[in-house]
Amino acid sequence: MTFSSFSLDSTLLKAITESAYDEPTEIQKQSIPLILAKHDVMARAQTGTGKTAAFALPILQQLISVQPCKPELRALVLTPTRELAQQVHKSFCHYGQFTDVTIGIAYGGVSTKKQISELKVGVDILIATPGRLLDLLRTESVSLSNIETLVFDEADRMLDMGFKEEIDQITQYLPKTKQTLLFSATFADDIYKMSKNILVEPKMVEI
Ligand code: AMP
Repeated sequence: MTFSSFSLDSTLLKAITESAYDEPTEIQKQSIPLILAKHDVMARAQTGTGKTAAFALPILQQLISVQPCKPELRALVLTPTRELAQQVHKSFCHYGQFTDVTIGIAYGGVSTKKQISELKVGVDILIATPGRLLDLLRTESVSLSNIETLVFDEADRMLDMGFKEEIDQITQYLPKTKQTLLFSATFADDIYKMSKNILVEPKMVEI
């Protein structure tokens, strides 16, 4: 199997060629077609398996397919830590480098000023940690009302770090109809419980 078999836009295939990836990894082979088909997906994958591209490529593809005239936030990726947010942001920027899709980032521990001005200009995708995102929502610096795709990256770590309450609050700001993707290294009981509340008939991917 090659990346071309996913019918991805040529701008994305060009970025993949620059990365010198020979073929999709297992998590990519299984997840990309399901995400492109608009399913909710619950995927078990460790870091290092290529999980970021497994959700970044189909999300970029979906945004390219229907480009709005004015950028509005249409995809949200939640990560447990600032380091992971930065890593995921870097990956999205890399895979999306030949597209017009704009990608923002918001995490705590630094001034909100720059993050707010970036959001005011408008981004298509936001990578955020839960606490900072809630701050931005409470001050109405960001709106999640047009979100089409929501990703929980490293959901198990998010719960281990005590973000359950923040996640519950964030979901109140999200539209009811959306695609939700949950990536986690483990599927413990609390992950199943969380998925029952948030995902709709998810397809399971376990590698
Ligand atoms: P991740 O699991 O998303 O943290 O990715 C781990 C590493 O795998 C990153 O350095 C990616 O650039 C790399 N990677 C992602 N997809 C592929 C692929 N299909 N072939 C080779 N390396 C890849």
